[in-house]
Amino acid sequence: MTLVKTDYILKIFNSRQAVHNYLNELRSSGKSIGFVPTMGALHAGHLSMIQLARQKADVIVCSIFVNPTQFNDKKDLENYPRPVEDDIRKLEKVNCHVLFIPDVDEMYTGAEQWNIELGNLDKILEGKIRPGHYQGVTQIVKKLFDTINPQYAFFGQKDYQQFMVISYMIKKLFLKIKLVLCPIIRENDGLAMSSRNIYLSPDDRKNALALSKVLIKAKEHFQTKAIPQIKKEAESFLKSAPGIEVEYFEIFNANSFEATSSKRPTSLIALVAAKVGSIRIIDNMILK
Ligand code: AMP
Repeated sequence: MTLVKTDYILKIFNSRQAVHNYLNELRSSGKSIGFVPTMGALHAGHLSMIQLARQKADVIVCSIFVNPTQFNDKKDLENYPRPVEDDIRKLEKVNCHVLFIPDVDEMYTGAEQWNIELGNLDKILEGKIRPGHYQGVTQIVKKLFDTINPQYAFFGQKDYQQFMVISYMIKKLFLKIKLVLCPIIRENDGLAMSSRNIYLSPDDRKNALALSKVLIKAKEHFQTKAIPQIKKEAESFLKSAPGIEVEYFEIFNANSFEATSSKRPTSLIALVAAKVGSIRIIDNMILK
């Protein structure tokens, strides 16, 4: 009997220079690079992005880096799950080619100045609730882009505002990177997958379903009700949901990323954030 080994040998780098040189060689031999940045604790949502990337690019690079500059809450940073061995096995299973997993010292040389103009994007919703978050996100993503130099970069709809922020940075800095928006992968009961979900207690895990439920309701009512009405009903649903502390429920023009009560924009998105127990959860759904 012949044993067929299907798992790919993943190449793992900790050094910026080493991964940069390795990918430069592949690029000069005509290979396209697809990049999937993550903070690890990989779930099916992350892995679906790797699979999507495999359809677009020749060489798939995943990064795992829990970026300190994007955390407003020190405890959240300290407690962030880091199951590195499991992550490596998962990446091998989906035939990811390269893992870049640097230490903090490899990405930062001490206190660094970074300030990029992001229009209104870092002043509203997540930007307002988490001051400095998108400055930290753009700071690390720019460093990762410079290191990997990808043709394609894959970001999840789960963090739609982050996608808008990265897209703004790419335009502003004239980066030659094609951004690809990847769909949200959900648990069977509708909860959007997230690395932080493991910290939900069994009760909170049930209560968290209010977020996906309110989005599904908004989508169902989209054809028949006006936007202010949908918003009002969503807010009162969330207020009466047990164990939930709502931060926002908004309906935005998905292209301009501004609040709207008109159904005319070509694409509309509902976005929700809430604290479930001590865990912050965000979710969204395209309505049109
Ligand atoms: P994170 O590791 O949480 O920083 O996420 C890394 C990337 O995975 C981001 O682009 C996220 O938007 C994306 N992502 C997170 N959760 C999901 C999900 N449930 N489905 C698809 N993509 C996701």
